[in-house]
Amino acid sequence: MEIIESIDTLTVQDPGGEDFCSSDLEWFKLRNAERCEDVALIPYDRVDAFIIGECSRVEFPTRFHVERGRKRARGSLKQHTADEYLDYKLYWCSFGPENYGEGGTILPSRRYRLNTRNRAARPQSMRGCTCHFIVKRLYARPSLALLIYSERRHVNKSGIICHGPLDGDAIGPGAKRVPYMCSGIQQQTMSMMYLGIPEENVLEKHIEGIHRYCDPNAKVDGIASQYVHKVGMIIKRSSHELDLDDEASIRLWVERNKKSVFFHRDASVADPLILGIQTEWQLQQMIRFGHRNIIALHSTFGIKRFKYPLCTVVVFDSRNHALPVAWVISRSVAKQDVTTWMKALLDRVHLTDPGWTAGSFIIDDAALEVEPIRQNEMESFSCPILFSLWRIRRSWLKHIVEKCSNIEVQREMFKRLGEIVYCVWNGRDVSAAVEEFLLDFADQASFMEYFKDSWVPKIEMWLMAMKNLPLASQETSAAVEAYHIKLETKLSDDDAAASHLGSLQRVDWLVHKLITELHSGYWLDRYADETDSFRDVKDEYIRSTSWHRALQIPDSCVLPDSDLSVRVTSQKEDDGGGPAKSHVVWNPGSEFSHCTCESSSTKGNLCEHVLKVGMVSDEDLPMSFRSLKAILIDAWRKMKPADGSMDLDVANAMTWRVLDRVRMFGDLYRHGDVSRVVDGMVPKWIGKKAR
Ligand SMILES: [Zn+2]
Ligand SMILES: [Zn+2]
Repeated sequence: MEIIESIDTLTVQDPGGEDFCSSDLEWFKLRNAERCEDVALIPYDRVDAFIIGECSRVEFPTRFHVERGRKRARGSLKQHTADEYLDYKLYWCSFGPENYGEGGTILPSRRYRLNTRNRAARPQSMRGCTCHFIVKRLYARPSLALLIYSERRHVNKSGIICHGPLDGDAIGPGAKRVPYMCSGIQQQTMSMMYLGIPEENVLEKHIEGIHRYCDPNAKVDGIASQYVHKVGMIIKRSSHELDLDDEASIRLWVERNKKSVFFHRDASVADPLILGIQTEWQLQQMIRFGHRNIIALHSTFGIKRFKYPLCTVVVFDSRNHALPVAWVISRSVAKQDVTTWMKALLDRVHLTDPGWTAGSFIIDDAALEVEPIRQNEMESFSCPILFSLWRIRRSWLKHIVEKCSNIEVQREMFKRLGEIVYCVWNGRDVSAAVEEFLLDFADQASFMEYFKDSWVPKIEMWLMAMKNLPLASQETSAAVEAYHIKLETKLSDDDAAASHLGSLQRVDWLVHKLITELHSGYWLDRYADETDSFRDVKDEYIRSTSWHRALQIPDSCVLPDSDLSVRVTSQKEDDGGGPAKSHVVWNPGSEFSHCTCESSSTKGNLCEHVLKVGMVSDEDLPMSFRSLKAILIDAWRKMKPADGSMDLDVANAMTWRVLDRVRMFGDLYRHGDVSRVVDGMVPKWIGKKAR
């Protein structure tokens, strides 16, 4: 290999074909004071082609993931060398860098390994592969990328080939005949197993997946069947209890799942436990759907039932459904603690994508420290904060329907609670409204006890949050509530048994539930939607938010019922042949509507009927819109520039720019098709989205 001193003399290589790999390139040794590295220069827009090619080499089929990344702004350096980067990405073979297999630093627990003599139970990924390379987009010549190959062999620390067909030791004696199984199929098989789908069906899908990579033959199918059976056994025998002591158990779990933990602070006398969980898949989803988009915090789940409550960071996916991308188990709401885990989460995202930013953050708890989100510092999310009413609305309605037996009283109480909230905008005195409410419904002792305990002391704080922060839309509220409902169902499936065994008080039980059932559920939902497979799963997933169900109700199904109510009939007869159902929505057009359907009247959910009535009613503005209007008028009053000055022109220009962007968003939303919006725009250069 030729040795060079500077990359200025390197020629740019661009092998033809759709994609290419390292053996299609001529490599040079670049020597400088510190080290000597293998380098090659290619056009920057061919980087993707190189990575795809490098992933599909016959001897080492794999994926490369971004292990670390750095970015630098153009023009930020006064002086620079020829190989200085504008954008730096370290790609690592996805069979590394950690080693979870035998001989690795992290041994699979003996208690849960199968007692077989072959090594089929060895995990299918994370074998400590050291293969990695660097892609530098050059600062001086941004159209070029410098490839630096640090370790080209797919070997572990001991220098032994650790995966692929050449690794005889990979997955047991039949390894050479076992086709490469992509992580997608493994994840699919695991997810289906965790969701309790029968083994025959899992196997059928598993083999279907494998046949995409190799020709069907009896041997391959036989090995696949063994594999699925073994995964099933491992899952059946695995338990959340890695140790009798919960804290020790969690420490073990953290030790074994380093890639899925973004923050961990052990419980001590001075500090309570904080455990931040995010799997590799969740990280990818957060980067994909959260960038310049809305993120929401679903907080304090299980505050009464669990030892430590759960807080979830969710993003909104391509269907605007809430998708959990990080879980934080912690009792602490101290500013310092919230800041610490939020920073750790953001750091993790930035390690993979340095340019990632959040568009806005929606919170649902008025007591939450907003400083860590709002701080105008580089290391915080530093984005606008919105407030969602879903939690307060749901808690109130749920307790009303549980504690008051008379349906007319329920309706009236809920409406009156809504009026207390409306004090935020109509200027009425809050304490007078609360006082009146307490007096008028004094006979509802059970509800009043709850209301006085839980809400009266902090109602001002909640209303202040609603006044000061813009309110999130009903669609967002419905999506976050759908996540809440799913969480509740998954975590209370075996509630009785769990509480009997004291599991609810164990953190390891909660972690196990999240990482197995809940994670698998969401993974399969997204997979089914994106690959258009598993029709039933996909349909159920699409219908899982009340907003989506409301969109399916034709306008003609909404009919006036009385002065104070609207009737919503279901379109078709029940599958069982029963008559078409109809539900009555009281106090229509308000967030504080009361519906007679089961979901609303027994659980306090924001149902599709209430949402549908809100969509067709043109008299009442949704609360989020009212809030936006109030905030805009307030901002205008405070910031109005002195009449006649040039400031007015600047303010005018800025306002139009904002309005233009809002209009564009509206168009996009209505058409649901980006090409129609783009057609109406002035043509301009659109950068290819960075990998
Ligand atoms: Zn490798
Ligand atoms: Zn309803």
